[in-house]
Order: sequence, then C-alpha cells, then structure tokens
Amino acid sequence: MKKEIRKVLVVNSGSSSLKYQLFDMKSETRLAKGLVERIGCGGPKDHAEALKNVVAQLGDAAKGIDAIGHRVLHGGEVFTDSALMNKANMAKAKKLVKFGPLHMPANLGGIEACEKIFKGVPNVGVFDTAFHIATMPDCAGMYAIDPKFYKKYGIRKYGFHGTSHKFITQAAAKFLKKPLSKVNLVTCHLGNGSSLAAIKGGKVIDTTMGLTPLAGLVMGTRCGNIDPAAVLSIMEAEHLTPHEADTLLNKKSGLLALTGSSDCRDICAKAAKGDRHAELALEMLAYRVALYLGGYNTVIGGADAIVLTGGIGENSTEVRERILKRLGALGIKVDKKANAKRGETIVISTKDSKIPVVVIPTNEELMIARDTVRVLG
Ligand code: ADP
Repeated sequence: MKKEIRKVLVVNSGSSSLKYQLFDMKSETRLAKGLVERIGCGGPKDHAEALKNVVAQLGDAAKGIDAIGHRVLHGGEVFTDSALMNKANMAKAKKLVKFGPLHMPANLGGIEACEKIFKGVPNVGVFDTAFHIATMPDCAGMYAIDPKFYKKYGIRKYGFHGTSHKFITQAAAKFLKKPLSKVNLVTCHLGNGSSLAAIKGGKVIDTTMGLTPLAGLVMGTRCGNIDPAAVLSIMEAEHLTPHEADTLLNKKSGLLALTGSSDCRDICAKAAKGDRHAELALEMLAYRVALYLGGYNTVIGGADAIVLTGGIGENSTEVRERILKRLGALGIKVDKKANAKRGETIVISTKDSKIPVVVIPTNEELMIARDTVRVLG
C-alpha cells in the first residue's frame, strides 16, 4: 500500500534566498514558514547549507516530512504538469536552464540539495509555465515570426504565474459552485509582476506573459508590451548590449521608470497628492488590464467571473476601482463599499453587474503542496 503523503515541505529556492512552508495536507494547514537569506553572499555557502538551516529552524517539525514540492520557473514544453523530479526529469529540466538562466539553476539546485539533506524523500517540481503550456492553443501561443526560430530555439509564448492562476481558477470554480470543466474566467494576478489568463472550461487558452515574464501588462519594473522596434531603436541609439537592454526592460521600466517607485502604494499616495506622473502610470496600468480583459472575455466566449489576486489585486482598492471603471461595456459596475474591503474572498462588483468580479487571495505554496500530493498519489 502507498504511504499517505501528509507532511509536505514547499521550497522556493531563489538565487540568493530560500523560502519554505511546511503543510499538514490532511487539514491543509500551514505548520511553519520561513526564509533563509544571503545564500552564497555572506550567509550559507550553498542551497544544501541553507537547507540545513531550514532543518534547524523547523526543529522537531522537520521529522517525518513525506514529500517536498518545489517551485520551478520554467518547464518549457516538456513539463505540461507538475512532475516527480527523478533522474530522467532532472536531466530534462536541466536542458531548460536557457529559458531562465538566473532562476533555473537555483530552482534545480534546491531540488538537488533536498535530495542530499532529506534522503529518500520524493521531490516534485511545480512549474510556473505548466498550467498555460498544457492547453494554450497555437493561435495564442505562437509568434508571427519564421517558425524556424520556434524549432531551433523554442521561441514561443509559455506564460508564467501558472501556479497562482491555477489556484484561483480552482477556488473560483468552487466559489461559483460550477464544475472546473465548465468554468470560464479571466484571472488577473496583479503584483510586482502581473499577468492575466483567459480560462475556458477550466483551461488556459491565453495569457499575457510570453517567452519570458516581460510581456503583457505594465508591471513594477517591467515594461510589458512594447513595439519590438522601439527596443531596437533604443539599443541602437544608446549602444546597448542585449544584456543591458534586458536589464533596462526588466528592472528599470514599468511603474519604476514612470514614477520613480515600483511600489503601488507609493504611487497611489503620490497620485492622491496630484502627481501627474503617478496618475498617468496608474491609468496606463488600469487601461492595459482592461484592454486584455475585454479581449479575453471575447475569446473565452464570456466569463462567469473575473478574478483578481496578487499584492495589488488583493489590496489596492484604488487600482481595482480604476480597472472596474473601464469595464462598463461588459456590464460591470464597482460596488464601492465591497471594494473598500481587503484580502478575503469578496465580490467587488454590484449585484446587477453582468459578470461578478471576485477578489480571491492566491496561495501558490498551498497549490504546490496540493500538486505534490496529487503527483505522488
Ligand atoms: P510579487 O509579485 O513580488 O509577489 P506582490 O504580489 O506581493 O508582489 O505585490 C506587490 C505589489 O502589491 C506592490 O506594488 C505593492 O505596492 C502592492 N500592494 C501590497 N499591499 C498593498 C496595499 N495595501 N495597497 C496597495 N497596494 C498594495
């Protein structure tokens, strides 16, 4: 008989930090959470040493861990679902490092460190791309360039935040009392990084991020969609290398470039004081969300609900109102009283709105733990 997978450690292993949460999956309660920082730069020398710190932090709770779930940035087209990271799958994942040269070595390093520290405990990889790539049709997923670039280099849309979109999709189906296979949604993960997904029958048919997380919405430090020729013009005029251009577009653009801050709270405070740049940045952000939302509502054949999550989606009354104000054509009106609330599962559209807009706090760690149990089950 198979052993029941009850105690699950969730690991998010980054280049210089390692976040973890420990769950009891019988009750889906969190037993512990923590963070080890400055890996390789003053703190633990590598991920294995960082995990030893985790074991020390957990104390007795580290005993009897049944399985470990890992957040992994990129699964390419190989991983269309979460997977047991045995030798064969680790070898496949290592071939995908080119898609995330910064994150992937750390993600996979975390798995290898767990193999050493938690001997015999199975490791499951949960890929940020998998929920999207599993079902996204080619008409949404392919770019209109010579197909040889797809064949040679895998240049196509993959999408990210898949674990979050999946969690809120399942939660929304439950909230709407609809079977997952019948639910149509536009899911909006709005945080420092942001993306929308078009969900038809519980499955992704489009999402705003692309080959990398740079595409789509206006984000904290990323520009989102931009005419590719604009990038080439800047590179030529400023003599930028591809690496420099990458840094410019990923780390020095978006809200940061427009306002001097990437933090939505600061920007809302500035806009309230009449700062024109902050005002414009918020309008650009809301406009683009509304633009994709309208398109996604069309391609899924009409949404049963629009779901908001992430730091901004869960907390920013102001940004939510700016978005909803633009959705009149979909028969949506904002319920100001409900929208003043935060966090919990709340409907922020009025009762007579044609499509309910629901705020659902995301829980990527719990989704990873659930997938870990499912994959091993
Ligand atoms: P990440 O993508 O790094 O996980 P989060 O999902 O935590 O980021 O989102 C961070 C964003 O959420 C920031 O722009 C922050 O200003 C915004 N945010 C968090 N709390 C609030 C709040 N109470 N009001 C407005 N914005 C908020």
